Amino acid sequence: MGKIFKGIIVASMAVFLLAACGKDDNPKEKTSDKDKPLQVVTSFTIIEDIAREIGGDAVEIHNLVPTGTDPHEYEPLPQDVKKATDADILFYNGLNLEGGKHGWFFKMIDSVGQKEENIYSLTERVEPMYLSGDDGKDEEINPHAFIDPDVGIKMAEDMRDALMEKDPDRKDYYEERGNEYISRLQEINKEYEQKINDIPKEKRILVTSERAFQYMAAHYGLEEGFIWEIDTEENGSPQQIKSLVSFVKERQVPVLFIESNVDARPMETVSKETGIPFSKKPIYSDEIGKPGEEVDTYMKYLHYNIKLIHDELSK
Ligand SMILES: [Zn+2]
Repeated sequence: MGKIFKGIIVASMAVFLLAACGKDDNPKEKTSDKDKPLQVVTSFTIIEDIAREIGGDAVEIHNLVPTGTDPHEYEPLPQDVKKATDADILFYNGLNLEGGKHGWFFKMIDSVGQKEENIYSLTERVEPMYLSGDDGKDEEINPHAFIDPDVGIKMAEDMRDALMEKDPDRKDYYEERGNEYISRLQEINKEYEQKINDIPKEKRILVTSERAFQYMAAHYGLEEGFIWEIDTEENGSPQQIKSLVSFVKERQVPVLFIESNVDARPMETVSKETGIPFSKKPIYSDEIGKPGEEVDTYMKYLHYNIKLIHDELSK
């Protein structure tokens, strides 16, 4: 090896070491591969946020379904396919949120040839709840378990464990950040119990457009009212509206909630026909807001929803 060439290597190594020293005490023990962030792909905004909280600087995240787009049906873009091909680990919700085994997520996974061991559902430990079919029979799994903070705890625990397993060099880092995050979720879980218990019993009714709040409502003791079962089906037919109108009148529902991501018109019809007002602000179900917006993390989403539900129903 020529002298000049050696000199260049030494000089560039010095630069590398200087850069590394700022953030690491033992740069000699690190190889370039260990310094490279773990490549993570997430299916939608809430999982992306949990990965950011637990993964911190150790991960680089590419999220698939952005805010404002339906996670039930999605058409992956070329860059999604590339990131999914190169990913070290992929997280999805499961419970049919991404269309199930024959939906868009698994179609993409199959097409890029990702190994099964790199793909993690975050709801393996969640007992599925079912939507009613047209004939009143249970048929489709309700994917919206993450609205319940107790499910959020399970999802965060499973993500923490998956990251520790996939990237053992940074095991302690994920464990520490994961545990800290989970303890914050446990606080929110308690807040849900307290706030819902504080609402007068006869007012504990949550009316939304989509039946997204089933898990949360069942867990904390709220009754549900809704126009349609799930966003992918017929939304706001005259029959569906009529049925909610009679429910609202019969149960003397105090307020109607409207989700951030749905067409407001069907619920406006219910409001007109019953004289029951809307909540002052929208409620969040399928997404968190864009960075910088009021509800731009999962933690803020959980806080925001319970504060809104409590303020509106305990008036
Ligand atoms: Zn939904």
